[in-house]
This record gives sequence, C-alpha cells and structure tokens, in this order.
Amino acid sequence: MLKILGISGEEGLRVAVVMNVESRKLGKKDIVKIENRHLRPEEVNKIALIAPTATINIVKDYEVVEKKRVELPSIIENILRCPNPTCITRKPREPIKPRFRVLSKNPLRLQCVYCGTILTAEDIVEQLIGG
Ligand SMILES: [Zn+2]
Repeated sequence: MLKILGISGEEGLRVAVVMNVESRKLGKKDIVKIENRHLRPEEVNKIALIAPTATINIVKDYEVVEKKRVELPSIIENILRCPNPTCITRKPREPIKPRFRVLSKNPLRLQCVYCGTILTAEDIVEQLIGG
C-alpha cells in the first residue's frame, strides 16, 4: 500500500493503511494514517482513486491531529496514463496532460477526455501499483 500511494520513498514518512475497519456508522471503512506530514492534493487524489471512501488521519506523536475524508474530484489530471497507445496524451511531442472524467464512483470508472477510453477500478489500481 505504501507503494500504491507513491510516497514511500520520502524521508521520515510513515504511512499506515488500515483497510476495511469496522465502523458503526458506515459498516466498513478505510483509514489511511499519515505520520508527521500533510499530503499534497495529488497524493490525496491517489488515495481517493484506490480507496474512495477512505478517511485520512494525520498522526503526530501517536495522536490524530487531523482527519479528513477523501473526495474524488470530477476530473483526474496527470495521475493516470491513458491506455490507448494512439491517444494524443501518449504522443511524446504533444505536451498534453492526461485528463480523465469520473463517470462513476462506485464502481469506479474514468473516461479519457481526449479519446474516450474507459478505465476501470482494476486498471487504475494496476497503474498505481505499477503493474
Ligand atoms: Zn486517451
């Protein structure tokens, strides 16, 4: 899971991910704990793509100092690559950033803004884990 978030290499960062914690209100929920550090918006979006209902807890000295629900934006930029090899975002000379529209959150489905290719939750997790 550290790898999924793509933030494991940073110094002094500890991330604990507790998936499927029982909660009286929501049934099952995902909690992502981050130690001593705030997340960049892109990192929050990555977490949202993997665990759209997760709560992120920022922990300092074993205490939770900040809690926030992840929220998936309606457009995902830069994080994911379009799987269509002929897509304009895949052309090395075109400085076009990949953009995906969120078609559905549950199950997660994204659509490339440029060529219409659909990404499923499986494709997304595979890309973020790195294969
Ligand atoms: Zn595309």
